Amino acid sequence: MSEVIFVGTSDAFGAGGRRQPAILVRSARGAALLDCGPSTLTGLASLGVPRDQVDSIFITHYHGDHFGGVPLFLLAAKYADLRTRPIVIAGPAGVREHIEAASRALGHPMDDSPWPFEIRYEELAAGKEVEGGPFGARAFEAFHQVETKPHGVMIDTGEHRIAYSGDTGWFEKLPARVKGADLFITECTQYEGNFPYHLNLLQLEKHKPEFDCDRIILTHLGTEMTDRRGKCSFETADDGLIIRL
Ligand SMILES: [Zn+2]
Ligand SMILES: [Zn+2]
Repeated sequence: MSEVIFVGTSDAFGAGGRRQPAILVRSARGAALLDCGPSTLTGLASLGVPRDQVDSIFITHYHGDHFGGVPLFLLAAKYADLRTRPIVIAGPAGVREHIEAASRALGHPMDDSPWPFEIRYEELAAGKEVEGGPFGARAFEAFHQVETKPHGVMIDTGEHRIAYSGDTGWFEKLPARVKGADLFITECTQYEGNFPYHLNLLQLEKHKPEFDCDRIILTHLGTEMTDRRGKCSFETADDGLIIRL
């Protein structure tokens, strides 16, 4: 069985009082976080998921709502959880430098004392397979601010394939990149509108027949979509939603 726990389902700005992006994928093999927004520690604690259970963290791109929680996650692992197990952090090019720079900027430089556990960094690149701790993953390109090095990921738990868009606007190859997923978790920040770097519901409705995925769930819901949870033509995520595949 694979389990997906939506830890945070809001857009960057906490729309609707929900937490910023973080999704936990868990199976008998282990557990991985897909993105780790600033409110992830609160979410895991609130949902009763021990941090020490997380084997790997996938970062889709370098916007704060997607990786801002990593420095404090690592700090908590070191000082509160007394972690000894290694952790994998997979992210776009320069992942180690981004995490270390963010930690330093937030007042917790990582080189001030030895780490009692190994942090193994893996770089995501479109089309490349990586071993992200317990799960294999293949990243794909996304259409989002290019300086954030945006990617989506297809996670293979061994039993199921779970695709996650990260942040993206519409691009023609999106259905091909997530084809065959048992679950496709896609951002849907807006209901309508012309901001090109995020998807909206009207676009997803228009392109729905192009997706060959068993199940699709919308997340990263902005204000307009917050009000449409449970009332639109797609399933919508909410903080604490658990899906069992
Ligand atoms: Zn975002
Ligand atoms: Zn973003």
